[in-house]
Amino acid sequence: MALQQLLETQKLAQQVAQSNSKGKPCPYCGGDAIPNYQRCKNCASPLSWVEGHPCKPGEEGRLTQSLAEDRKQAAEKEVEDNNRRYQEKISEKAAQQGCTKLIAVTGIVLTAALCLYAGGLSKNIGFFVATTIGILVLAVIFG
Ligand SMILES: [Zn+2]
Repeated sequence: MALQQLLETQKLAQQVAQSNSKGKPCPYCGGDAIPNYQRCKNCASPLSWVEGHPCKPGEEGRLTQSLAEDRKQAAEKEVEDNNRRYQEKISEKAAQQGCTKLIAVTGIVLTAALCLYAGGLSKNIGFFVATTIGILVLAVIFG
């Protein structure tokens, strides 16, 4: 049957890929242990497997616990990372808003100065008014 041949070929390819893949460190010798093999290919020590991690037979419970701990830490780290990214986004947004505010205020102040100047008042008064408004606005923003 063609289908069976295909399945067999896939299985073979899977086995080859598995034997080529880098294994996990053997708990005895530290060499690569091929996933789900009952013995280490380097030191021939007996191996037990928990979720793709090798351990000495009888230490499955401890490994399960340590894997759960790792997962918990990874989850906590992810939450922390998300929080940090969120905070960064917020401060970025605040900085953008501050920048927009500053540009708007500068525009208003310059317009006011221009209006005063165009209205026939002397440059000195226009400059003085613009500076005063500017200082007041800056005091509001940063104070
Ligand atoms: Zn070994």
